[in-house]
Amino acid sequence: MNNSTTTEGTPSAPSGTSGEGGYAGNYANIIANFNSNNGVLYNYLFSKNNFSGAAAAESGFAKTAVAYQLNMGRGTYVGSTWASNTITWSAASASSLFSRQMSGVDVTTLQQAFTAWSQATGLKFQQVVDSTNANIRVGWSDLDTQASYTVGLTSMASSGSSFSSNSLIRIEDTNLDPLVTNSDGSITYTGSGATLLQVMMHEVGHALGLGDNTLTGSIDNFYLTTNNRSINTIDMQAVQSLYPSAAATLTQGMAGFAVYKASQSQLGSGSTSQTSATLAHPMI
Ligand SMILES: [Zn+2]
Repeated sequence: MNNSTTTEGTPSAPSGTSGEGGYAGNYANIIANFNSNNGVLYNYLFSKNNFSGAAAAESGFAKTAVAYQLNMGRGTYVGSTWASNTITWSAASASSLFSRQMSGVDVTTLQQAFTAWSQATGLKFQQVVDSTNANIRVGWSDLDTQASYTVGLTSMASSGSSFSSNSLIRIEDTNLDPLVTNSDGSITYTGSGATLLQVMMHEVGHALGLGDNTLTGSIDNFYLTTNNRSINTIDMQAVQSLYPSAAATLTQGMAGFAVYKASQSQLGSGSTSQTSATLAHPMI
């Protein structure tokens, strides 16, 4: 396996690679780690000789700690975007990077995460067979969540201002850190308020170019709780600003809807049922 890690000293991320994480669990401990620059996940992955993961963890931890320290409302952007408005993704197979094949209902949850971002942005997401050619690969990983409080970690490669294929989203493996039913009935990682769909949406936000923030209610608030389980207006505006031509298709869709509504009202009661059925379809 090829990587740019040296055999001594601190590993460095390959050129143009950066990371972003997501945190859940004991808030006081998370903040204490930020304040003391205690990169628990970095140390853990480094001890496992997972140097590319460690580099991503270090990058993400540093950026999130700064976002917290400076109380960066909107937060930062990763600094790159996808060149195309159609982005491919895969459910990753087991490999040195991912602990096991993601499958079944978990892939369905992942599809829901991409659908939510598509509806919010106008971007199109196409599921493909897993390979390094996929733009975004999402899979299970060992993030030592009970100690690191990290439930997701995204590492993005970029060339110039554009993301490159093989961006990796690591999600804490639910075989290692089981999902449990909370007192409010939601199903979350043990000891946290983070649901699987929430973690997936948070990390996809990173893969699209959003950094962590400290805004209440934002899916890309660094801390995942019951307060930020969906993509809110601020999140939508942030990603739409990164992909204006995709956002324009959303606007056109709304304009088309307005035209449809107008034509419906003009048709009045005299329209045939066949025509109504045909017109009604775009509403779905
Ligand atoms: Zn994050």
